[in-house]
Formats: sequence, C-alpha cells, structure tokens
Amino acid sequence: MTIAHSPARRRAPRLSFEFFPPRSEEADAQLWQTIDALSAYAPDFVSVTYGAGGSTRGPTQSTIERIIRDTPLSAASHLTCVGATRQEVDAVVEEFRQVGVKHFVALRGDPAGGIGEAYQPHPGGYANAAELVAGLRSIAPFEISVSAYPEKHPESHDVPADIDMLKRKVDAGATRALTQFFFDNELYARYLERVRAAGIDIPIVPGILPVHNLSQVQKFAGLCGASVPQWLADRLDPLAERPEERAAVAAELAARQIEGLITLGVDEFHFYTMNRAVLVAAVLDRLGFERRDADSADAATGAAA
Ligand code: FAD
Repeated sequence: MTIAHSPARRRAPRLSFEFFPPRSEEADAQLWQTIDALSAYAPDFVSVTYGAGGSTRGPTQSTIERIIRDTPLSAASHLTCVGATRQEVDAVVEEFRQVGVKHFVALRGDPAGGIGEAYQPHPGGYANAAELVAGLRSIAPFEISVSAYPEKHPESHDVPADIDMLKRKVDAGATRALTQFFFDNELYARYLERVRAAGIDIPIVPGILPVHNLSQVQKFAGLCGASVPQWLADRLDPLAERPEERAAVAAELAARQIEGLITLGVDEFHFYTMNRAVLVAAVLDRLGFERRDADSADAATGAAA
C-alpha cells in the first residue's frame, strides 16, 4: 500500500528525523552516513538533541553547524534550561543563532540527579519549558517546537496538569509539539482529543520509535512514563537471535502504526532515529515514501544497522 502517493491524499505526510550528537569518531561516521541516507526522504527538518545541563553543548552545536553548512536540510536544535541561569541559556541561543539556527526544540530537561529525582529549577534560570519558550520568543522570531506526552510526563500529577503545561508553552509561542514515543495509537487519539478540547490547535506530531533494541526501549519507557504493549514484546522477543527477521518485523510494526495514524488524520511524523538509517528507511519504503535519489538509497542500505 503506497500511502505516501495515494491519489486520495492531498500531500505526502511530512517527516522530521531526530539525531543525537556523536561521542566518538565511529559514532560520528555513522551519524553522517545516516544523515546522508535519510536526506533522500526530504524531511521538513532534522533535529539534534541537547544534553540536559548543557553536557553536549559543543557537539550539538558542531553537528548542527555541519548540517547547516554541508546539507540542504533544515536543522533544529534541541535546547534545555535545567541547571543554567537565563543568561547562560540566552548565550547558548545567541551562539546557535550565529551558526544559523532558526528553529529550537525547547525543553526543560531532566533533573540533574536523573529521571525520577525531584526537579529543582535553577534560582536564576528558566523554571520550565514554558518560560524557556517565552525567553526564546523575546530573543528572535524563532520557530519553536516543544514536547508533549500522550501518556503524561512522569512528574505530572495528572493528564489535565500535563495538558495545562502544554497550553502554557503554546501561549508562550510554541508552534508545534513533538510527542514522546508511544506504540498504541489509541493513547494518541485520546490525548489529541483532550488537547483539542483544551483549545490547543498546534500540530501534535507523533514521535515514532522503530524498535532496534526491545530491552533498551522497555528500560527507557519505564523511566519516561511510556508503555510498551505486551503484543510488541510478543512479536519481537522470539526473534532476539534472528536480527534480520526482527528488524523486518520492527519495520512492519512501525509502518502499521503510521498507517493507523494516517487514518486518524495525522500528516506529520517525527522519527527517533537512534542515529541509524536502515530501520527508518525500511519503514518509509514500506509506506511508499519516495527517495530523492538512488545514491542515498544505496547509502541507507549500507549504513550501519
Ligand atoms: P515541561 O514541558 O516543562 O514539563 C513536562 C511535564 O512535566 C509538564 O506537563 C508538567 O506538567 C510536568 N512538570 C514539570 N515540572 C513539574 C514539577 N515541578 N512538578 C510537577 N509536574 C511538573 N531531554 C534532554 O535532556 N535533551 C533533549 O534534547 C531532549 N529532547 C526531547 C525531545 C522530545 C520530543 C521529548 C518528548 C523529550 C525530550 N527530552 C530531552 C526529555 C525532556 O527533557 C524531559 O522529558 C524532561 O523531564 C521534561 O522536559 P519538558 O520540556 O518536557 O518539560
């Protein structure tokens, strides 16, 4: 089924790809192979994560700078405000602006002690992502995306409190929300209904995580409050020793999830790529997304899985 080109659709779904800054030469090579390969799908933008507390400031900046300089891609930088004064965050914004960043994914960041610890805003800092969005807005007319949590953020008392925070971020100037990953489209549909009922009308772009490593995903999901359905484990667990089959099933499951979301009217998807091209490319190929050129297609097949 080639959803991307269905004549009934007005336009192909829009895509964005998330990367993290590499920590070694080998990881750097893999990232650039991945960027090269996924460029073929002409994403609306790609984004690069930013370590809470500024831990990846240099690598994030150099990765973004290289994307802007060496590729035709539009690049967004993630930015967190935890553990920093407003002046320090604003200085980072200015530096990133100098290298050409016009789009930020504005985040509070996890507590300094790690996920699950009590969050303490820096006394002179932006207290949360809504304040950070307002700060960015006061600096320049950036495009600003923010986070959203279909299963609520683990620190939120309840879903209404969570949606209230999203509303504050939108009122401060955010124009798009990227969701935490989820595997059950019903969760997204219910969340979207509540978000719209709260008067929030920005795109709530589903975060899609094709599963490379189930146990890693289960561990991370436990920390960030996302659920991993039993059916997903039942499909992938028995294939633990058969990586090729497992990857094919993981691609099929992610493609079906996207098909389901398209039937709900979604036309924009954000991929957590884990800096790997093969699985994301397999999902998009199954859905009939066109690749811009054959060279990049070959690069996708050759990039480390
Ligand atoms: P906020 O939007 O400020 O808050 C999130 C929720 O937590 C709110 O709904 C609010 O109700 C609740 N909450 C916040 N503070 C409190 C409080 N004090 N008491 C009670 N409830 C509270 N992390 C990184 O370090 N780097 C990244 O690059 C990065 N990228 C991300 C990209 C996406 C798309 C997503 C979904 C998450 C990303 N994260 C990243 C993780 C994010 O930093 C954490 O989830 C963090 O804990 C919250 O940041 P936020 O911007 O979502 O916070």
